[in-house]
Amino acid sequence: MSTAEVYDYIVIGAGVQGSFTAYQLVKRKKKTLLLEQFTLPHTRGSSHGQTRMIRKAYDQNFYTHMMEEGYELWAQLEREAGVKLFRRTGLLVMGPENSRSYLDFKSTLEKNKIPMVVLTPDNFNQHIPNVILADGDGALVDTTAGVLYADRALKVAQGQFHKLGGVIKDQEKVTDIKPGLTVTVSTSAGVYQAKGLVITAGAWANELLAHVNLHLPLEVMRINVCYWKEKVPDSYHVNKRFPCFLLTEGEEAKDHIYGLPSNEYPGLMKLTPDRHFVVDRHPAYGNIVIGTGFSGHGFKFGPVIGKLLCELSLGEVPSYDLSPFQISRFQTMKSSL
Ligand SMILES: Cc1cc2nc3c(=O)[nH]c(=O)nc-3n(C[C@H](O)[C@H](O)[C@H](O)COP(=O)(O)OP(=O)(O)OC[C@H]3O[C@@H](n4cnc5c(N)ncnc54)[C@H](O)[C@@H]3O)c2cc1C
Repeated sequence: MSTAEVYDYIVIGAGVQGSFTAYQLVKRKKKTLLLEQFTLPHTRGSSHGQTRMIRKAYDQNFYTHMMEEGYELWAQLEREAGVKLFRRTGLLVMGPENSRSYLDFKSTLEKNKIPMVVLTPDNFNQHIPNVILADGDGALVDTTAGVLYADRALKVAQGQFHKLGGVIKDQEKVTDIKPGLTVTVSTSAGVYQAKGLVITAGAWANELLAHVNLHLPLEVMRINVCYWKEKVPDSYHVNKRFPCFLLTEGEEAKDHIYGLPSNEYPGLMKLTPDRHFVVDRHPAYGNIVIGTGFSGHGFKFGPVIGKLLCELSLGEVPSYDLSPFQISRFQTMKSSL
């Protein structure tokens, strides 16, 4: 049997979360290996596509708070790589004016002093032509929001990781994990050892977690993407200042509807029951760290999640309260069913 290659840390999965975690680890001078099952770049996970929405507007305060740093870290990466990754478009948030969800978005933005414009039925069409504001709906614009150039961002994060000495091995599917003080990872092509492991395997998370006796309640969904046909050609184009948009969940609306002034991309989503992320250590093996369940809204958080998974791997106190993202909450949910 060939001898194992030894690293400080191994990260499984070169989606947005794995790529940023690997980048953070190598920035902290750790010898890091990033393993990916497919040939990079690929379109079979959750992180591919031209664009993703970035916003501070959330109905939970902790996400808005994390995105304050998220914007700084995206800008820092743009500076480091000399590549444009973000375009501001604004985000139009609409929903029944007195519904819990709409009011939560509004109050989170107000509480965090995020620049926003509240629109009225009288001035709505001056700001947003070609869209109808329904009777009883409220509308506001998170003016900090916009689009991230997703494919480009992934390439840049992996490029910076490589530039700082990180090793990327694609076309290497992880087939086995042996936990311990030293973790041993086997792939279709080799065997690797490290003192710490990060699993950011997206929709494949449970397949890998089975090797370390863990199962998370993740629902894998292939997402539906609709294309709005413009009545007036180009009226929904980013150059015509058409914003991103999001409909808050009213009592009667079950679907989560949002859109970008752009085209493309089907993809996979893995949803947790409460739609919050999983960012935690393995309950039994402290040197195995897990980032998954990004529930269709994780891209914008990539740099912050990377930083948090790196901090957990290094045994540091994480920069944010991670209680909403702990694995143990699923036990609580189960017992309350
Ligand atoms: C259509 C769509 C629209 C979205 N829109 C937005 C948006 O507007 N804004 C936003 O913030 N977020 C959005 N999201 C969510 C965001 O894109 C995801 O949360 C994010 O990409 C998840 O990244 P990930 O790294 O966890 O997963 P992935 O990108 O799926 O990465 C996991 C990687 O692990 C690899 N892997 C798995 N198993 C193995 C193995 N055994 N060995 C080696 N490698 C393995 C996979 O091949 C894959 O590359 C959207 C998602 C989709 C699908």
